[in-house]
Amino acid sequence: MQQSFRRTRLLNMLKRLYYTWRRQPQLAGTLPPLLGIEATNVCNARCPLCPTGNGELQRVKGMLCLEHFQQVIDEVKAHVVMINLFNYGESFLNPDIFAMIRYAAQ
Ligand code: SF4
Repeated sequence: MQQSFRRTRLLNMLKRLYYTWRRQPQLAGTLPPLLGIEATNVCNARCPLCPTGNGELQRVKGMLCLEHFQQVIDEVKAHVVMINLFNYGESFLNPDIFAMIRYAAQ
């Protein structure tokens, strides 16, 4: 199973590189290899240039639950090769962050 995912991810990346090399704007038949997922948008710091830190972020504050994280990972695991687990928040405030990292790594 792992071997098949590796092959699918590699083929996806090669197709994307080929289209990029050909300067084709549409990457037909490929899926994004990178995923940005916000484990939380809560933070205990007050960085003045950050919308979370300076209070400008208007979205509802919350934590991503492990179950939803696992659903997303299961949907993208055949093509995603890298995951950024942060955006506008301190990911380590999410109590499930280590379980999320373990799940994604597996
Ligand atoms: S999310 Fe990062 S940049 Fe924003 S306030 Fe927190 S530590 Fe600072």
